[in-house]
Amino acid sequence: MNKLIKDKSIAIVGGGPGGLTLARILQMNGADVTVYERDMNSEARAKGATLDLHEESGLRALREAGLIDEFWANYRPGADKLCITDKHANIVFDDDTDGRDGSNRPEIDRGPLQKILLESLLPGTVVWGSKFVSLSQQNGACKLDFENGHSAFADIVIAADGANSKLRPYITPIRPFYSGITAVEGAVYNSAVVIPKIHELLNGGKIFAMGDTKSLIVSSKGDGSLVFYASFNCDEDWTKAIGIDFADKAQVMEWFKKEYAGWDALWLELFENASTDYVPRPQYCMPFDQNWDALPNLTMLGDAAHLMPPFAGEGVNMAMLDALELGLCLTSDDFDDVQSAIAAYETEMRARAGVTAEQTMEATAALHADGAIEYMMAVIS
Ligand SMILES: Cc1cc2nc3c(=O)[nH]c(=O)nc-3n(C[C@H](O)[C@H](O)[C@H](O)COP(=O)(O)OP(=O)(O)OC[C@H]3O[C@@H](n4cnc5c(N)ncnc54)[C@H](O)[C@@H]3O)c2cc1C
Repeated sequence: MNKLIKDKSIAIVGGGPGGLTLARILQMNGADVTVYERDMNSEARAKGATLDLHEESGLRALREAGLIDEFWANYRPGADKLCITDKHANIVFDDDTDGRDGSNRPEIDRGPLQKILLESLLPGTVVWGSKFVSLSQQNGACKLDFENGHSAFADIVIAADGANSKLRPYITPIRPFYSGITAVEGAVYNSAVVIPKIHELLNGGKIFAMGDTKSLIVSSKGDGSLVFYASFNCDEDWTKAIGIDFADKAQVMEWFKKEYAGWDALWLELFENASTDYVPRPQYCMPFDQNWDALPNLTMLGDAAHLMPPFAGEGVNMAMLDALELGLCLTSDDFDDVQSAIAAYETEMRARAGVTAEQTMEATAALHADGAIEYMMAVIS
C-alpha cells in the first residue's frame, strides 16, 4: 500500500456523490476509510433532479472507480433531451439526443447514482445518522464529534459535507457570495397522468422556459415524477421578506401568478399540482480566486470547497472529479507527506473550480437577463 495512507485511518464527512466516490477510490487502494453521513439511511431524503455526467469529470471518475458498466446499466437514455420554450410555451428548440451516442452528457437520477457508489463500498463503510458538529486535534489525530453524542478519531479528514459544510470553517473563513438569483423548487408525482401536456412537452427530458429575465426549468425523473425550478432575480433575503409559507400551495401559487404574470397558463399546472412542499433556494457561489494554506490532515471537496449555482450543471461533476484527483494524490508515490499531497490536490482543484464558477456565474446571469433564449441557443449550437 502507498506510504501516505498505510496504517492511517481516513474519515470522510458526507456521503454525497463526492464523498462516496472518494471512499470507493481509496478503498480500491486498500485504505482504511469510514464515511460519516448525517442521514439515517440511504432512503432518507428525496434526491433532487436528474444529473448529467460529463465525459471529462463525472464519467471519468466512475470509469476510474471501476463503475462505468454499473452507470450504463442505470442511466436514463434520452433524459438529456432538451426543449427550450419562450414564456408562452412556444417551442424554440426541441432536440432528440441520447447521451451515449449524442451529446456525451448522459443523465442519471441521484438515487441510482448513490446506490451504485454505496454498493461498491465494503459493508459498514458508511456510518449513518452521524451529523458532524465539531473537530479538535488530539496528539496529531483529528477527533470528530457528532450530534448523537458519538465521537470518532481519524488521521486524515475530508470534508464532503456539501453546501453548508460544517468542516470548511476549520480550513478557511472564506464564505460564498449570493449570486443574485433564487429558485423555488417543487415536484409533481406521476406527471403523465396529472399534467399530461407538460409531460408530453418534457418527453422524458428537460424543459427550459425563459422570458422576462426569469426561467422555469422542468426536469423528468425515472420514477415518473418531475421536479421544477422557478428562478428569478431578487435580493438575498427574498425568502424571508416575501413572507410566504412555502408549505402552503395556495400562497405559492398566488406568488407565481404575480411574479410570472403574462406567462402561459400551462405553467400554472405545475403549481396547481405540486406534490410536495416547496423549497426556496437562494443560490450562492464561492469566490473565483479563493486561496488558503494546505493543512497536514484536513481538506475538502465538492460543494464544501466550491459551491456554485446549478445552472451550468457542473456541481456533481466537479465533486466527483475532486474525489478522483484527491484519491490519486493521496495514493501517489510522488509526495513525501499527506500535507504535500493535499496541497497539490487543492492547488489544481481551486484553479479548476475558479474557472468553472466564473463560467457558471456568467451562465446564471445570462439565463436571467433579456436575450436568455438567444444565449441558450448559442450555448447549445
Ligand atoms: C436544486 C439543485 C439542483 C442541482 N442540479 C444540478 C445539476 O443538474 N447538475 C449538477 O451537476 N449539479 C447540480 N446541483 C449541484 C449538485 O447537487 C452538487 O454540486 C453535488 O451534489 C455536490 O456533491 P457533494 O458530494 O459535494 O455534496 P452533496 O451532494 O451536497 O452531499 C453532501 C452530503 O453530506 C451530508 N452532510 C451534510 N452536512 C453533514 C454533517 N454535518 N455531517 C454529516 N453529513 C453531512 C449530506 O447529507 C449529503 O449526503 C444541484 C443542486 C441543487 C441544490
